[in-house]
Amino acid sequence: MAVRKIVTKESSILHVVCRPVEHFDAKLHQLLDDMAETLYKANGVGLAAPQIGIRRRIAVIDVGEGLIELINPVILKSSGKQRDVEGCLSCPDEWGYVVRPNKCTVRAQNRDGEFYEISLEGLGCRCACHEIDHLDGKLFLELVDEFVEMKEEEDTQN
Ligand SMILES: [Zn+2]
Repeated sequence: MAVRKIVTKESSILHVVCRPVEHFDAKLHQLLDDMAETLYKANGVGLAAPQIGIRRRIAVIDVGEGLIELINPVILKSSGKQRDVEGCLSCPDEWGYVVRPNKCTVRAQNRDGEFYEISLEGLGCRCACHEIDHLDGKLFLELVDEFVEMKEEEDTQN
C-alpha cells in the first residue's frame, strides 16, 4: 500500500469526466488499497480517483461506518434536503455550505465487479454525492451558497 499525492483544484484532471472501470484486476485492487490509505492519512471522509490523478470512476468513502468502495457508481434515487458545511481534500482552505439530498440509493460495483446497491443518509449521502460529482469533473465550490472561515481542518473533507 502507498499513500498517493492528492492534487489540488488547479489540476485539469479535476475538471474532466472520468472513464468507467472495465478491468477488475490486481491493479485496481492496489489502487483501491492506496486510495483508502490516502484517505485515512489525510483524515478525510471521501476520496475520488481523479484527486490522485487517476481518470477513472472510482471513489472510497468512510464516514465512520466502515470503508465503502464505489466503482462506476450511479445515484439511482435521492430524496430530502440537507444544508451543511462541506470541504474537499483538493481545496484545502475552502469551506462552505452546500445543499445536498439527505438520502440516496447508489448502485455501484465492488472490487470484483459485482453490482450492489447501498442506501446512504446524512453525511454518508453528502459524501457520496460529493465524490460522484468529482467523477463528473465537478467541484463542490460551484455548489456553495455561502463560504465560511474555518480555523482548523474538520473531519468532513471529501
Ligand atoms: Zn472533494
